[in-house]
Amino acid sequence: MDRDKILLTPGPLTTTLRTKLAMLRDWGSWDSQFNAVTAQLRSRLLEIVHAGKTHTVVPLQGSGTFAVEAAVATLVPRDGHVLVLDNGAYCKRAAKLTQLMGRRATVVEFDEAEAVSVSRLEAALAADASVTHVLVVHCETGTGVLNPLEALARACEKAGKGLIVDAMSTFGALPIDARTLRFDALVAASGKCLEGVPGMGFVVVREEALRRCAANSQSLSMDLHDQHAYMERTGQWRFTPPTHVVVALNEALAQYEAEGGQPARLARYSANCATLIGAMRDLGFEPFLREELQAPIIVTFHAPADPNYEFRRFYEMARDRGFILYPGKLTQLETFRVGCIGAIGPNEMRQAVEAVADVVRTIGLRRMGRAS
Ligand SMILES: *Cc1c(COP(=O)(O)O)cnc(C)c1O
Repeated sequence: MDRDKILLTPGPLTTTLRTKLAMLRDWGSWDSQFNAVTAQLRSRLLEIVHAGKTHTVVPLQGSGTFAVEAAVATLVPRDGHVLVLDNGAYCKRAAKLTQLMGRRATVVEFDEAEAVSVSRLEAALAADASVTHVLVVHCETGTGVLNPLEALARACEKAGKGLIVDAMSTFGALPIDARTLRFDALVAASGKCLEGVPGMGFVVVREEALRRCAANSQSLSMDLHDQHAYMERTGQWRFTPPTHVVVALNEALAQYEAEGGQPARLARYSANCATLIGAMRDLGFEPFLREELQAPIIVTFHAPADPNYEFRRFYEMARDRGFILYPGKLTQLETFRVGCIGAIGPNEMRQAVEAVADVVRTIGLRRMGRAS
């Protein structure tokens, strides 16, 4: 098969030919033409969340986690105190990196099968006045659950706390409006819903908050205040930029705008998600989340109860048919995940489920429902 495999994962994702072709040129990092690409990219990213008047965007080399780490290191003073709302694996990662950077972190835990709760956030903030920042994950990609960002942001604003949002798996697909939703930092990356290639994160930062952040960061390469100051002064990245990633993302953003921006992307991913869940249910597979909690980003399915099911074999057989699935990330339950994002549509989702059906027949799986 000469078609690339379809990546049904939380990233890297399937990209378009146009995006791939944008990477076939070499760019000098000092060149004014490359600086112009960086500038255009930055204004396009701000526009997506309507943040041009109040916020700035700071790109950073690396995967998405690097940018989350940089946001915490830069925004939170060394004696700050971060409240982390935890309903899954990416929340736990955010709490861990906060602690590793020497910031005080308090974790409020929730069930992985539920969204985090606004009332428990309000209670935690009322109980401890020393909290300076709240860290939330918009879509917890470990399960696919959507957290109530607007209500969480209102609670933080009312309590006068800074808000840092890991919007890695939602930026560009779900509506986020900086004119009505108050945050200090919103973190995302090139290789998720914007359908670029991986290698660059970025943080949309409220300018007023960033101004107070000089010398907060204990890390040189993670210092977004410094990266921002240098970029504003010179138009260049502070250290070697991921040039091919940057031009590919800028090209992906041109396609994003042509497709119709955020509403169009959400409509396509929602159609992907509905097609996937409907067709998988027809085969007997059960989604892990209740429907109202499910973001149209990635779907967790219970592993089939059939004793002949084994993820690795199931995965490899789907891969040989052209589709890359993803393991589950739950500690207690055996699950697997299927992404709905990337440069794919409902046709690819239908083909993916046909491939899964063929795998099911070939292994001879009979009991597709959950084990317990
Ligand atoms: C993808 C993702 C990240 C970043 O993961 P990397 O492996 O560092 O790219 C962080 N948070 C969420 C919610 C994600 O989906």
